[in-house]
Amino acid sequence: MARFLIRTYGCQMNERDSELLGCLLRDRGHLPTESEEQADVILVNTCSVRDQAERKAVGKVGLFKRLKRQKPSLVIGIIGCMAQAHGQALLDELPHVDLVVGPDQLHDIPDLVEAALQGAAAVVATAVREVIPGDLSAHAPDQVFASVAVMRGCNQFCSYCIVPQTRGRERSRPLADIVAEVEQLATRGTREVLLLGQNITAYGVAEARHEGGAGAAHPRFADLLRAVHAVPGIVRLRFTSPHIRFMDADFVDCVCSLPKVCKAFHIPVQSGSDRILQLMHRGYTAADYLRVVEAIRGRLDRVAFSTDVIVGFPTETAEDFAATRELMRRVGFDMAYIFKYSPRRGTQAADRFPDDVSAEVKLQRNQLLLEDLEGSVAARNQARVGQCIEVLVEGPSRRNAARWQGRSDTSKVVIFDPVGTLAPGALVRVTVERATAHSLFGSIVP
Ligand code: SF4
Repeated sequence: MARFLIRTYGCQMNERDSELLGCLLRDRGHLPTESEEQADVILVNTCSVRDQAERKAVGKVGLFKRLKRQKPSLVIGIIGCMAQAHGQALLDELPHVDLVVGPDQLHDIPDLVEAALQGAAAVVATAVREVIPGDLSAHAPDQVFASVAVMRGCNQFCSYCIVPQTRGRERSRPLADIVAEVEQLATRGTREVLLLGQNITAYGVAEARHEGGAGAAHPRFADLLRAVHAVPGIVRLRFTSPHIRFMDADFVDCVCSLPKVCKAFHIPVQSGSDRILQLMHRGYTAADYLRVVEAIRGRLDRVAFSTDVIVGFPTETAEDFAATRELMRRVGFDMAYIFKYSPRRGTQAADRFPDDVSAEVKLQRNQLLLEDLEGSVAARNQARVGQCIEVLVEGPSRRNAARWQGRSDTSKVVIFDPVGTLAPGALVRVTVERATAHSLFGSIVP
């Protein structure tokens, strides 16, 4: 029995991988710990999206050298995207590391950890698997909210993004396997499922091509949503991240007509300037983006949009930035992750375009968008005061345990006083009495 610690950086896919890796290690009798000093095994699940994230992870692993000196039997592993991207080079740079394991080898990590605990030599395991790791739900603890990976990899090659190199090409799990996993989760109490994929709306597209042309009958993302929607016990369905290029009429019809699909859509836009979108290789224009948003909004009474934006992409002018601001104003996002561009080694943008927007201008643009966003979110939340909304209960509020919190289907955090016997996973109706930029506050409707 060993005590293990997993540190996780990056996206929801990494969070999910770490969670399941923890379950696999527990299944073998190993115990989790939060103490670096007490751990016998430390695994760092890394992100490669930004150079800064990589430097942070290397710095963190570098600090573990001291622990290894004190306890030579300590097993240290780097897993995830960085392991995939750099492989042996990580072992060369950090010789106190025992394991370098890519995301497709998740199932093998317990064996590799146990071998390392027995004194095996350092290992690099980064083969990309055609068949992606499947159902791990049997190992997961019972939970109201669960994530399910439905596809991995990306074929889009946006010029600033390293994901196609680290996570490989698109591979989708069979629809029947995903449905079986969700059914299993539902029988154990899961109420809300978050479907995960780097380019999730391309679910099944690569497989359809292999099977004989773009029109081949492999299930697509809308088919998957319909199938998961039909699983009894699941009351809410979310997904991330979609790409506007794959959000066709069938997709729009599906997300608008299926009641369990949450009406909060995170759709990365990145820029409102067509010229910059072209340099980014995003494959759509600002008008295409707005068309999809308007098609969804036209069908729904209430809906929330969120997005990702990069400011200061190479050559971004004041005019390009103004187009981004205007697009954000027109959509009226409820949330946005706004990033200042930084070149990512190994991407086309880093190789081909000088990083020519100054740090000062990037900061200014970032702040302007954040200010715009804050105003728009506050106004949108304020408009919900007086409304009665359905909330999926999470449990006691993190800030004040006397109150409880949950989420609306538009992804708003809702705080309320618990009434009667309330359990996580219950659906309640709450009248909104006041709103801040971050949360809604209200009372349960008896
Ligand atoms: S679609 Fe997303 S994951 Fe794929 S290359 Fe573009 S930014 Fe990266």
